Amino acid sequence: MNKVFVVGLGPGGAEFMTAQARAALQQADVLCGYTVYLALVQPLYPGKACYATPMTQELDRCRWALERAKAGGTVALVCSGDAGVYGMAGPLLQLAALYPTVAVEVVPGVTAALSGGAVLGAPLGHDFCVISLSDLLTSWAVIEKRLRSAAAGDFAICLYNPSSHKRQGYLRRACEILLAAGKSPATCCGWVKNIGRDGQSEATCTLAELAALENGVVDMFTTVFIGSATTQVVGGRLVTPRGYKKEASCTL
Ligand code: SAH
Repeated sequence: MNKVFVVGLGPGGAEFMTAQARAALQQADVLCGYTVYLALVQPLYPGKACYATPMTQELDRCRWALERAKAGGTVALVCSGDAGVYGMAGPLLQLAALYPTVAVEVVPGVTAALSGGAVLGAPLGHDFCVISLSDLLTSWAVIEKRLRSAAAGDFAICLYNPSSHKRQGYLRRACEILLAAGKSPATCCGWVKNIGRDGQSEATCTLAELAALENGVVDMFTTVFIGSATTQVVGGRLVTPRGYKKEASCTL
């Protein structure tokens, strides 16, 4: 079959994969993706052919998958979290226009906003937005505009790619922009590192504390949550109320 599944694996090991993702991997005759994600699923499918590529060669990986499918294969291209959220589904579909004989199926996965949100409690219980702080493919001016807009709309905010070796200090800059845009320094926030993986750790804090975190506490394997004005810490868990009228929340 001339087919590429682009599969979101969820945040960590096998227990986070959907049944749909498992079925796609089972059906494929070759699995391809970034070495680290392949290593997570390889043991589930012993003997299945695998093709690993380094992190930076995303387009090459897509091209390889499409060429292999064109030659008569069924390929599963794996990515972490969801396949479409800062993932490979977009570039794959763009390139797939050049491969009319190849079918592409997007298989969703549990994105870090959801798996990390569950670790902290329910920070995304009302309207929220997701912003990536990576300026590799987006200009910082656009990122800054989106941060200000999110503050103006009082959305709960989930930040992906909050920091990396090359992008130290980005989270602090983002927090300062949000504070300057009127968010309270006391806003309830949190972060989760290595969701679903060895070394998972998490914390809740205020926006002022988030802005003052030492470099390295939050890294590229961390997802950050910044509350709306209504977000609270309840029994140690981060909760953004759904906005029930007062009478209803009295019964909680
Ligand atoms: N497609 C992925 C996102 C890729 S962008 C998804 O849907 O989750 C990479 C960013 O996602 C990281 O910098 C981090 O902010 C977040 N992320 C992905 N997996 C994570 C995990 N297991 N633990 C913490 N953050 C994670």
